[in-house]
Amino acid sequence: MIYNEWYEEHAKKHATIMKKLEGLDEYDIVQYFIFENMVEKEPDFCELYKTNTKCHEMYELNCYMCGCPHFRFNQTPQKQDDLEFHSICSISSKRGKRTVREVGDVAEVHQDCSGCTIPHGEDYIFSNFDEDWLEMMKNVKKLDL
Ligand code: SF4
Repeated sequence: MIYNEWYEEHAKKHATIMKKLEGLDEYDIVQYFIFENMVEKEPDFCELYKTNTKCHEMYELNCYMCGCPHFRFNQTPQKQDDLEFHSICSISSKRGKRTVREVGDVAEVHQDCSGCTIPHGEDYIFSNFDEDWLEMMKNVKKLDL
């Protein structure tokens, strides 16, 4: 599945859960999205739930903003010298990194978010909270890193 398809599917899944949670306040909604609760109640929300695996080893991993709003997937890779950028972090988080894959004559650059927990922390989620996931992704506040 390419990223854009995943993005649309994920927005739908998020909206379905939000319908179920109608009437809860912001705090309770965000608590519902804690990893352990999601694994139990929403097993189809994330592929990793099947194996009870966290995408990041962190205390209280929260899945409300999964699909980081700072991640940019380039449908058409951007070329710069010998490099082809397939994805980037729009805020150049110091906790993210870039991986380079040699494919024939081309060096593909991909964003690697495995070391970055920014979208999974509750403070960050509360400061950007919107019940509409797509709006939240669009309107995310700029971070001072
Ligand atoms: S490095 Fe962090 S802030 Fe940047 S796109 Fe990845 S998860 Fe988001």
